[in-house]
Amino acid sequence: MTIAESLEDLRTKIGPKATLIAVSKTKPVELLMEAYDADQRHFGENKIQEMAQKYEVMPKDIHWHMIGHIQTNKIKYMASFVHLVHGVDRPKVLAALDKEAAKVGRIIDCTLQVHIAQEDTKFGFDMDELAEVVQMLGQYPNVRVRGLMGMATFTDDHAQIREEFTALHNAFETYGPDRGWEVLSMGMSGDYEIALACGATHVRIGSSIFGARHYSA
Ligand SMILES: *Cc1c(COP(=O)(O)O)cnc(C)c1O
Repeated sequence: MTIAESLEDLRTKIGPKATLIAVSKTKPVELLMEAYDADQRHFGENKIQEMAQKYEVMPKDIHWHMIGHIQTNKIKYMASFVHLVHGVDRPKVLAALDKEAAKVGRIIDCTLQVHIAQEDTKFGFDMDELAEVVQMLGQYPNVRVRGLMGMATFTDDHAQIREEFTALHNAFETYGPDRGWEVLSMGMSGDYEIALACGATHVRIGSSIFGARHYSA
């Protein structure tokens, strides 16, 4: 399938209720432009400098999503343009985003990353830490939390994935209504259909659009 055909196929499956973020990390600008020409406007990257380089050369009506782990000293490279920072996983990131947003006179939107997987390699607040951090958000006037993000365990066990996404959805329902949250970012190529069934508003899909990634290059 071409990129355009993959996007068309995904849009049909996702429907109008959720936003498709095309995860383009490691992929060259020519391939991103193929997606752009097929009307894709939300792109996700996991390295701040790679995203900034692509931002520079690509059309300015793209919404850039930072979905990777955040190194606070790099936030300055994206503060002026990033649309949504998904991987906020510690108070230090909130403080650094607040500072850099103030410098460029913007409010930066983000989601709090919650650790829902059984693997301990995945980042995020646990549920107790989340309960604490949502009480602290007033300290960061230049950051606006829009909701939650999470990654399920990499497994074929659909019941387990569903359980993890349901836990994230429950947290979203606990904290979101009073705070006007509207983003529940969960689901990748392998598990987005389960995520949608569990209430995802944003799915982050890479390999099903652009093909497998090759990190050796
Ligand atoms: C790479 C990545 C994705 C997309 O993964 P695919 O399996 O290629 O769809 C989604 N979310 C995050 C946080 C990622 O790093």
